[in-house]
Amino acid sequence: MVLKTTGEIELMDEANRIVHQVLNGITELIVPGVTTAELDSFAEDYIRGAGGVPAFLNYRGFPATLCTSINDVIVHGIPDQTPLEKGDIVGVDCGVLYKGYYGDAARTYAVGEVSSQAKQLMDVTRESLDLAIREIEPGKRLSDIGHAVQSHVEKFGFSVVREFVGHGIGVALHEDPQVPNFGQPGRGPVLETGMVLAIEPMVNAGEPGVKVDADGWTARTTDGALSAHFEFSVAVTENGQKVLGRSQAAA
Ligand code: MG
Ligand code: MG
Repeated sequence: MVLKTTGEIELMDEANRIVHQVLNGITELIVPGVTTAELDSFAEDYIRGAGGVPAFLNYRGFPATLCTSINDVIVHGIPDQTPLEKGDIVGVDCGVLYKGYYGDAARTYAVGEVSSQAKQLMDVTRESLDLAIREIEPGKRLSDIGHAVQSHVEKFGFSVVREFVGHGIGVALHEDPQVPNFGQPGRGPVLETGMVLAIEPMVNAGEPGVKVDADGWTARTTDGALSAHFEFSVAVTENGQKVLGRSQAAA
């Protein structure tokens, strides 16, 4: 597990600011009729204009800048020409490489008015991310993070995906340790100042299972139920935690 200096964390804050500026731009662009390919093209242009490099493009062969995951797609959906429809929910995950350091964050957006279940799923997933972030401070244990996510989400009858997890991040997009969104508290490595973790609850409205499409990427719920995803990159600091890119992130 690689600890980062204050200067490195500042660079990662900059990388994450670009990510959140992209996600803010997408808030304005998400309307019925827009295609995920159009969102992707906006994101790539914005990132390159800011002096960054899209981190997901060509990562293990992934063909786009964004992952766009509609309705029952959990994560890793590939942008395409299908227009979004009123009532859809869309997870948008964005990664940026900037001055040698990675930023990574995700939000789930409503397309127009969505069902009360979809709204609740998004709210609960976002809340679980906030509760997880509150667990981050020196001396806490890694599994305290996942426990906070799981215990919140399951109160509402939703389920946490097991197959995909959060991760360390820095000079690589995925560093050790893995950060599961489930588990008992008080287990695993002790959190230390200088660790940077991408915390990313993936929450299904129904069963926790995952199936991957023939494209090798698109991960869906096995029961066809909705899924939501939010992510922040978070540094462990002396005083607690710093959410990277926070100055640009929506509340
Ligand atoms: Mg991500
Ligand atoms: Mg991530």
